[in-house]
Formats: sequence, C-alpha cells, structure tokens
Amino acid sequence: MDKAKRKAIIAGNWKMNKTPKEATALLNAITPLVADADCEVIACVPYVDLAAAIEATAGTNVKIGAENCHWAESGAFTGEISTGMLKEVGVEYVVLGHSERRQYFGETDETVNKRTKAALAAGLKPIVCVGELLWERECNITEEVIARQIKLDLWDVTEEELKNVVIAYEPVWAIGTGKTATADQAEEVCAFIRAQLAKLYNQDAADAVTIQYGGSMNDGNADELLSKVNVDGGLIGGASLVAEKFAAIVKAASN
Ligand code: PEP
Repeated sequence: MDKAKRKAIIAGNWKMNKTPKEATALLNAITPLVADADCEVIACVPYVDLAAAIEATAGTNVKIGAENCHWAESGAFTGEISTGMLKEVGVEYVVLGHSERRQYFGETDETVNKRTKAALAAGLKPIVCVGELLWERECNITEEVIARQIKLDLWDVTEEELKNVVIAYEPVWAIGTGKTATADQAEEVCAFIRAQLAKLYNQDAADAVTIQYGGSMNDGNADELLSKVNVDGGLIGGASLVAEKFAAIVKAASN
C-alpha cells in the first residue's frame, strides 16, 4: 500500500507532566499551531488532565488520549482506570505497553494484551508500544523481541479490530535519552513489524496499520524519520511538552 494512504499520526505522550491548568495552557498554545495539519494529532495526557484537555480541544482537530487503561470494567483495582471511564469523558486513544510501564510497573505482554483487548472492545484506539532494550539490540535479538511482543500483545485481536490499532516502535534505549534511532534503523524495524503483521493477518491488513516511531523524535530529526516508507508518524515524549516543537513535528508529518 502507498504510504500516503495510511493515516499519519503524531501523538504526544505527556507522561507524568502538567497539572490540569498547565494542560489547558499547553493545549491552548498547541491547537492554533496545528489547526491546518494534514495528519491526525493526539495529546495523551495524565488522567486528571483528561477533562480539561477535552474541554480545551473541543472543536479543534486535536484528539485526546490516555496513557493506560485497565482490562476490567470495574472492581477492586485501586489506582486503575477503566475503559468505560475513559470513554465517558471523551477519550479516543490510549497508550498501552509503554516501556516505562513495562520497566517500572510490571507490565508484561500478557497484561498489555488484556488491556489492548479491553480497549478495543470499548471502542478505544490503542497505541501499542513495542521496542527492544539496548542490551537486546547489542545481542542481536531485536527482531526476536519485536516479533514476540507483536504476537503476544495482539494475541486474539481480530483483523477487524486491527484497523483501530496503532503500533508505536519505541527502542527503549532511545526514549528520553536524546539518542534517536537513525532513520534507517527506525525504518528497518517498522518494516519488520509490518512483515510480522502480514504473517499474523495478511498483507492488506498489515499495509493499513499506522506504525509510529518514538524515541527522542524532535523538530530537528522528524523530517528524516517520517520520510521513511514504513514510519507513519511519531509518539513524542519530551518534545510534545513544547508547543512549537510539537507543532513542527506535526508539520513534518503533514508534508
Ligand atoms: C515516549 O515517551 O514515548 C517517548 C518517545 O519519549 P521521548 O520522545 O522523550 O524520547
């Protein structure tokens, strides 16, 4: 499939940054700068910012995402958030399996899969993050790691449901480190992810999936990364907290 036919998506991952008031101010700065974007623009924000973020982006082309969700509808899961709660406030996307969740909060491929299935069942669009550790890259097992994550994280996800899944390739060694994968490295793994999807589903289904790169993407390197055939967008951490930098990445994706 022609890359231009896939939906380019630039999503900010704010992580644990910004209070509700600060979120409103940042989104008020971002929305006019990205108003004419020719790609999907998303801000994934902390739970307590969701209501303010949805209000601040009402009537704009910026969509709001959450940074996680639980698989149960309700119950004794202190500190967790259900898909129903996210839907009711107007959330459309949800980041799942981010390496920080895997690294610090015990997230596994099994729980990423459960969350992904629940998000899809609720009508949310999951941005499923996969990526290798530096040690895994050095041991030459990047493809093995990615193939395993794709297979397990999407276990039991139907071809129909796959249409609402976004994959973010985020090499863990490039997240928040200032070390970006080269455009060729990003392309190589994003192409590998598409090939895995083709094996698990079929080529048409794989060709339609938006695959983002994430890992120190910024206004200086976005053009080159996004010029690659299999890099359909970006999941942006640090640079998504600066309106002008985020807008410049959105512009690069719109070109
Ligand atoms: C991320 O948090 O998903 C990310 C890619 O962070 P950064 O852009 O800061 O590396």
